[in-house]
Amino acid sequence: MAIPNIDYGLCQGCGGCAEAFPEFFKMRDDKAWVINTDRFRVEENPGILLVCPYYAISLA
Ligand code: SF4
Repeated sequence: MAIPNIDYGLCQGCGGCAEAFPEFFKMRDDKAWVINTDRFRVEENPGILLVCPYYAISLA
């Protein structure tokens, strides 16, 4: 099962992912954290890989 992964070397803390997908990302200490991985289905959220302007989000 693929779940979102954040590369903290790339994340700039812009908050875009948490704004677009609040069910799966939460801002904490100026970085995004992945939440609710048990509910994530990539086929239901295809835009999740495109939401980060810094390409910090991948699937793991
Ligand atoms: S959209 Fe990308 S850069 Fe912005 S908070 Fe999310 S992971 Fe970080």
